[in-house]
Amino acid sequence: MFQKILIANRGEIALRVVRACREMGILSVAVHSTADADAMHVRMADESVCIGPNPSAQSYLSIPAIISACEITGAEAIHPGYGFLSENANFVQALEDHGITFIGPTAEHIRIMGDKITAKETAKSLGIPVVPGSDGGVPDFGSAKVVAKEIGYPVIIKATAGGGGRGMKVARDESELEIAFRTARSEAKAAFGNDEVYMEKYLQKPRHIEIQVFGDGKGKAVHLGERDCSLQRRHQKVLEEAPGPVITPEQRAKIGKICADAVAKINYIGAGTIEFLFEDGEFFFIEMNTRLQVEHPVTEAIFGVDLVREQIRVAAGLPMEFTQEKLKIRGHSIEVRINAERLPNFAPCPGKITQYHAPGGLGVRIDSALYDGYSIPPYYDSLIGKLIVHGRDRPEALARLKRALGELIVDGIDTTVPLFHALLDEPDIQSGSYSIHWLEKWLSARFG
Ligand code: ADP
Repeated sequence: MFQKILIANRGEIALRVVRACREMGILSVAVHSTADADAMHVRMADESVCIGPNPSAQSYLSIPAIISACEITGAEAIHPGYGFLSENANFVQALEDHGITFIGPTAEHIRIMGDKITAKETAKSLGIPVVPGSDGGVPDFGSAKVVAKEIGYPVIIKATAGGGGRGMKVARDESELEIAFRTARSEAKAAFGNDEVYMEKYLQKPRHIEIQVFGDGKGKAVHLGERDCSLQRRHQKVLEEAPGPVITPEQRAKIGKICADAVAKINYIGAGTIEFLFEDGEFFFIEMNTRLQVEHPVTEAIFGVDLVREQIRVAAGLPMEFTQEKLKIRGHSIEVRINAERLPNFAPCPGKITQYHAPGGLGVRIDSALYDGYSIPPYYDSLIGKLIVHGRDRPEALARLKRALGELIVDGIDTTVPLFHALLDEPDIQSGSYSIHWLEKWLSARFG
């Protein structure tokens, strides 16, 4: 087992990894930008190294700075968290060249899944059902017209290099196609430096259901059921729950097995998430994330497992502790993302926390790097914490979430907490009847 792990991230996820290391008797090294010198992950880790100035391009995304930090501290492995370098194949390659273990999949698997067209082709070849759409990239407007006719309107045009919901445009009929096609391409070029796009049938009221998979890198893999992440704003997740309110045990077992078999076949190592749109009882693959997800705690809650510990174990060459037979779902879990944002526009709202009180009690988990007097820097993601609850069933989890939100105090800045208070009073949320479009509609009805 590793003696020392460096965590190439910040905020709640860096803290999450520090905690797993400590329980396993592994020393942890935090890295930070100058803005984060007083951050909680720096305070909680065993050692810390400043790796550069405030902009992430010069610190959290700087491969040479992070490798130097490993060499200075003698860390043998790196946990990348999510975001930043977690899905960067060049980073993984560079670590390999320096003899540092990456706690995650191989550069090759990251590459295959990072390009969405290749990912979709791979998924298809592994027996995973995909959204009907173009075969590969769509080079020009003329071809787009032909593809749209074949798959039928409405269609969605998506960036091959896409991520974070950017570079996606919907066309409801042919009159909307040209502008949608051109905008998607120029957005893709601006955001990812690559203007290749592909097309899919635009599903009208799907749910976003994702399957957690885990592989040992030697041909064995399991699935840990699904998470329903349909509550989204601008294609970004706001609340997640497990198990999915509308997924039957038969549907779970079937799609779970397809996903586990697929990743086993490619000798995938560590945690991965296969994302689907789910409509009328059918699953349609959209992408695979080759890392730990923000919403992993809801899966940990219902299966009673520690995904980060398992990631570290398999990266160290130990056998996977999970077996499909032993993975049994217990109860229901819900996570809400607490962002430093001002409603109704969700404008980032960094600043100083004047008072912080975390909820507690049975079935409540807070993953957050906040503390009294902490100043949230304006340079990074607005996610400042996650509140996760676990109950014997969905109604109990909902009641617990309401209770815990009532105990939470984050003063000095605006957060998304009031949004969740309001959402929990909605009959559709209480009954679990929502698609990926529900939240946008609700927000525009409420705030215009
Ligand atoms: P990204 O990597 O940018 O997050 P995804 O492919 O994962 O992009 O899609 C993000 C979200 O966009 C999905 O969760 C869903 O809400 C919406 N979406 C993507 N593809 C489709 C589609 N074919 N039909 C309807 N909605 C879609």
